[in-house]
Amino acid sequence: RQAQYRLLRHKPAVTKDGVRVALNMNAGLLVDLPHLAEAGAEGIGLFRTELQFMVASTMPRMNAQTQLYASVLEATGDRPVTFRTLDIGGDKVLPYMRSQPEDNPALGWRAIRLGLDRPALLRMQLRALLRAAAGRELRVMLPMVTEVSEIRQARGLLDREITQLTRHGHAPPSKILLGSMIEVPALLFQLDALMAETDFVSVGSNDLLQYMTASDRGNTRVASRFDPISRHFLRALRSIVTAAERAGKPVTLCGEIAGRPLAALALVGIGFRSLSMSAASIGPVKATLLGLDIGKLRAVLDPLLASDSGEDGISAALLAFAERE
Ligand code: PEP
Ligand code: MG
Repeated sequence: RQAQYRLLRHKPAVTKDGVRVALNMNAGLLVDLPHLAEAGAEGIGLFRTELQFMVASTMPRMNAQTQLYASVLEATGDRPVTFRTLDIGGDKVLPYMRSQPEDNPALGWRAIRLGLDRPALLRMQLRALLRAAAGRELRVMLPMVTEVSEIRQARGLLDREITQLTRHGHAPPSKILLGSMIEVPALLFQLDALMAETDFVSVGSNDLLQYMTASDRGNTRVASRFDPISRHFLRALRSIVTAAERAGKPVTLCGEIAGRPLAALALVGIGFRSLSMSAASIGPVKATLLGLDIGKLRAVLDPLLASDSGEDGISAALLAFAERE
């Protein structure tokens, strides 16, 4: 199997009916980088910057951050990299940072909330990213955005750092894109405003599904409720794709489900043309997509998504489809 996937490494993921899907990988540390070429990823769709902070025993200084980001950009060459700003707080605690215990860490003071309330940390990170990407394209993505105004605030911080950078004689990136993750359900009801404020969006399906179904993503007791191939969730995801297309903004999905072949089928069926997943999943997902006819898939999927009958049945129907085709 592994050898078979390796043969697909240089092949683009194009479905039988000619639709190209970009397969990117998720990463977070330098050790992940060799997987880029091994897996044949088109780029890094999600770089989880908090990992550098989580493995350190003291707060990484700006130079250490800059160095890591520069090494990542160096290793990826011309391939795109999306750096997500710190997603700490909640369950991602830093031992060296004082934090108050919270009753519901997943719903607490974390990610962009912390970043905007204590902007020194976020500003330092933005500075490191800007310096590392001198003369290159820089893509920055904000985690756990709940309100569109948070993007506006973050853009304000970013603009200030760009001004400072050039004032100090540093070369700026050749292009800067600021994107938002969609992982809080409140954003589903502000999609047009969101698209207007952001250069791209990426669905964090782990958290979006957790918050939509009120089912802890790590709790095995509720694992059966944490089902991405369900009508309500796929409808939500489809509304995101539709809004992004309407606004002409790139949309991708970087949660774990992108790496599950059956879920990836569903995602491509509802319109995703870019996914980001663990490096090990790229081979299996690509193999699945190479054998897919989206037209045939949609003939099965669309009626099930449109139906309001009590039974969902999408998982079973997709499985039957995958076995038949
Ligand atoms: C997600 O929530 O789907 C996501 C990609 O972010 P993380 O898993 O790091 O929370
Ligand atoms: Mg998340």
